[in-house]
Amino acid sequence: MAKECVSCGGPVRFIGTKVKDGEICAQCRTSISIQVYTDRMQYTGAEIRELIEGYKVMYPEKKGILGNKDDKFDEVRKYRKLCDDGLITEEEYEAKRRQLLELD
Ligand SMILES: [Zn+2]
Repeated sequence: MAKECVSCGGPVRFIGTKVKDGEICAQCRTSISIQVYTDRMQYTGAEIRELIEGYKVMYPEKKGILGNKDDKFDEVRKYRKLCDDGLITEEEYEAKRRQLLELD
């Protein structure tokens, strides 16, 4: 009987990766950054899911998610959260914000 991934809700096959409130599947594990993976026991499944969404925004070319100009404010907010969570620095956030809002 497969367990349920606390991040995406999909089945956890073979050995799951432990997080704070359960286990995540292989697909979610490969989607999180190394830094998140290292600290994963501090995150709940829902938080992991949010971080994966942020990661997709950070590396759109890797995940095949194309940036939509209309979503640029949402993207800035996601970067703000990554910065607030300590996953990126204030400088990285500011550089990304300027790039997204085409301020330079
Ligand atoms: Zn999953």
